Amino acid sequence: MTTVLAVANQKGGVAKTTTVASLGAALVDLGQRVLVVDLDPQGCLTFSLGHNPDRLDKSVHDVLTGDTAAKDVLLATDDGVTLLPATIDLAGAEALLLMRPGREFALKRALAPLLDLFDVVVIDCPPSLGVLTLNGLTAAQQVLVPLQCETLAHRGVGQLLRTVKEVQQITNPDLVLLGALPTLYDARTTHSRDVLSDVSDRYDLPVLAPPIPRTVRFAEASASGATVLVGRKNKGAAAYLELAQQLSDHWVGGSDLVTFSPFKG
Ligand code: ADP
Ligand code: MG
Repeated sequence: MTTVLAVANQKGGVAKTTTVASLGAALVDLGQRVLVVDLDPQGCLTFSLGHNPDRLDKSVHDVLTGDTAAKDVLLATDDGVTLLPATIDLAGAEALLLMRPGREFALKRALAPLLDLFDVVVIDCPPSLGVLTLNGLTAAQQVLVPLQCETLAHRGVGQLLRTVKEVQQITNPDLVLLGALPTLYDARTTHSRDVLSDVSDRYDLPVLAPPIPRTVRFAEASASGATVLVGRKNKGAAAYLELAQQLSDHWVGGSDLVTFSPFKG
């Protein structure tokens, strides 16, 4: 069975796109067939996987709003993941979709014919809780929430969790909230840990391990059009590989997810 995972947080800059690209590449390393979906009109995922959104004729926009089949838009990438790309056209999709019945189901319907081709689909949601994110959450079986380990990181988490609840009530009763993924984590300070324990207490939200360390390699990687996994020997790549292994054990073998304890290490 194919696992469809949405990566969502309406806050920008929390490493959603980095997580989708790096986790996708790590899952390919583990031998999985991976599709990543760019649902952000900014096209950062598309760009960071080596494709220039300004030069693409067709994108996920045509799939969501027109008659284009998703399989006709897929692109190969150097990291081995298959990409359903986004372009700035997607900024207009919100308004077009709002006119349609079943607007939250457009992505789910578009992905259905592709599921046999992939073991895992990872969806990069835009930094909003609009129709595009609702499409991501409706198409997914599970959702992961990257959370930057800094003060006020939790602002907006309550609203996101309410949206997830509404999706569970209305468009996707089987959606599972896997938990928060700590990102931009600085193990040298106690501050990151304090933020995480505050979040897990306040929202009763599992915080997954391992936290993804802050490292300059991510900025270098996205500028080069390949993920941090391509360099391999760095702690960011190691953390995403560990996360990929953990998720795949959970999906395939049903093992419990390891959660992060702020009081250890
Ligand atoms: P989002 O998709 O949530 O807006 P991005 O994945 O685009 O966030 O990340 C925002 C910025 O943070 C990017 O410049 C990215 O390179 C950088 N970044 C992401 N993860 C890390 C990390 N672990 N260490 C350092 N920089 C990171
Ligand atoms: Mg992004």
